[in-house]
Amino acid sequence: MPDSNKRGPDKLPPLRDVIAANGLSPKKSLGQNFLFDLNLTRKISRAAGAGDGGTFYEVGPGPGGLTRALLSEGAGKVIAVERDGRCLPALEQIAAAWPGRLEVISADALKLDEAAILPRGVRIAANLPYNVGTALLIKWLTTPQWPPRWASLTLMFQKEVAQRITAAPGGEHYGRLSVLAQWRCTAKILFDVNRGAFVPPPSVTSAIVRLEPRAQPLAPAELSDLEKITAAAFGQRRKMLRQSLKPLGGEALLEKAGIDPTARPEDLKITDFAALARAFHH
Ligand code: SAM
Repeated sequence: MPDSNKRGPDKLPPLRDVIAANGLSPKKSLGQNFLFDLNLTRKISRAAGAGDGGTFYEVGPGPGGLTRALLSEGAGKVIAVERDGRCLPALEQIAAAWPGRLEVISADALKLDEAAILPRGVRIAANLPYNVGTALLIKWLTTPQWPPRWASLTLMFQKEVAQRITAAPGGEHYGRLSVLAQWRCTAKILFDVNRGAFVPPPSVTSAIVRLEPRAQPLAPAELSDLEKITAAAFGQRRKMLRQSLKPLGGEALLEKAGIDPTARPEDLKITDFAALARAFHH
């Protein structure tokens, strides 16, 4: 019988055995790179705040390594969405070991209406499938309501994506994703994760990123205006803004926003992009 202590060991079989028993040969098309290292899954769970209890949303539990760690570190409840039906028996086994604490939803997370299933204040923790990780992050960052229903994101990304999310102006990683993420959230890289921690190893190093929603975006702007400005500016990132923003108003727009027309997009702070979005708004 499973231990009934909140943080007790779950007495489930080792993950390698779970994978063998359920024939879970990793599928590249689903971004399946599994984590077996219990120290690492515990570290991610603690970074996500599992020790404080509460409800967590996990995208892509796979065989359940991170799910098990979230539960054993103290998550009150985990709502897990998995697209690969082969993983469901393993996840049901975890649900049975933690009665009432794990809800498994068999679905594509990109298509899920999260407002219908996630309680306010939910924390999101996931070792994301790399092929849809950025799309999911953008989905979470562009909810019409702000602050959003989620209280934090603790997510695994390819390191290069993590650097784009957290980049400051002036560097090669600074771009649309940095502006969008940091306009609405604080974002930082917590730690790197070596390729060898995954089965099979991905081609590049990964990193855990933590995002927390700001109560208010960094500066006022309409999201749709900000997206148009950053798409045009970074779409031609080597050009001066007076050139790349020509279709949106060019020099007149830059003057209205008080921005040097000869600047390039990587020179601009997020508040400058917000000023451009406000100047563009009509
Ligand atoms: N959480 C597990 C771990 O850490 O070992 C597995 C992580 S693996 C990188 C990504 C998981 O996301 C896989 O189990 C995959 O089947 C699942 N997945 C891929 N695309 C998905 C989608 N659109 N919606 C939900 N799950 C998805």
